Amino acid sequence: MKLRCIACGSEYCGKIFDWRSGISLYECRECEVQFFHPVKHPTSKYYEESETYIFPNISPELGWEHKQFFKDEFFTDPRGRRLLDIGCGNGKFLYEASKIGYDVYGIDINRNSVRYAHEKFGLKNVFCSTLEDYIKSNPGRFDVITFFEVLEHLDNPKEFIDQVKMLESKYIVLSVPNRDRTFDYLGEGDFPPNHLTRWSVSSVVKLLSRNGIGVQKIVIKPLRYDDISNWLGQRIKFGIITKRIARARESCATVDEISQQISSMFRLKKAIFDMIGFALQILFFPFKLKGSNMYIKAVVER
Ligand SMILES: [Zn+2]
Repeated sequence: MKLRCIACGSEYCGKIFDWRSGISLYECRECEVQFFHPVKHPTSKYYEESETYIFPNISPELGWEHKQFFKDEFFTDPRGRRLLDIGCGNGKFLYEASKIGYDVYGIDINRNSVRYAHEKFGLKNVFCSTLEDYIKSNPGRFDVITFFEVLEHLDNPKEFIDQVKMLESKYIVLSVPNRDRTFDYLGEGDFPPNHLTRWSVSSVVKLLSRNGIGVQKIVIKPLRYDDISNWLGQRIKFGIITKRIARARESCATVDEISQQISSMFRLKKAIFDMIGFALQILFFPFKLKGSNMYIKAVVER
């Protein structure tokens, strides 16, 4: 069977390179998305066990993309709007949105994250669910739907956008890694089973506009200390944290116990890389380099 683009269905896809285990990266010549094939979304088990996602308390700060949302004057006047965050993680973004008056809802497939959102932030409307199952539960209409850093994890972005549209929200806000960033990580996290697709500005705009969603605003993240820090973190690995996690697992420790044990080590590592990142951010500032992702605000056309 001929390979078809997972975003637009086009047959005009060219191979960029063979990755491993028979999986290759392709680019659609019509909509420009890049996608790994053949791959499947790894389901919640991967996110609940992967070192990056298992500990919801490890990254409690708002991301750059969340801050863009709160900077937008339009979104700082919630007037009781219903907001759904898909892939809400530990719920920090929803918690901040609830503080300024949004009626907040969230879904995530990682049980650890959902539990954290309940216990730490008291977010009662956060559910462990796929979008498909959540829609079946008749959650009603939303005014704003957000999905930050979600699209790149999916094996069928077109189906996902169709599902998002079923919730009849006028505004859609998302962020996605920018494959045209200056420091391409090309670390483990940028490949399957974590990232299954790679997006440029034009490929995201095409995905949305083909599906009746008009882009109102795009902000390309400039290179910041955290991009450099993450890049370093992907490349410089001593395996100490991984070993500590493995040891804790052998002793049947719970996620919370392991999290307690490694959080200071994790924060120390991050603080060192952040400091290097700050120094390099200043050094690189005159060159106007591109950071890791992009923020998009869009309106569903009716
Ligand atoms: Zn395509």
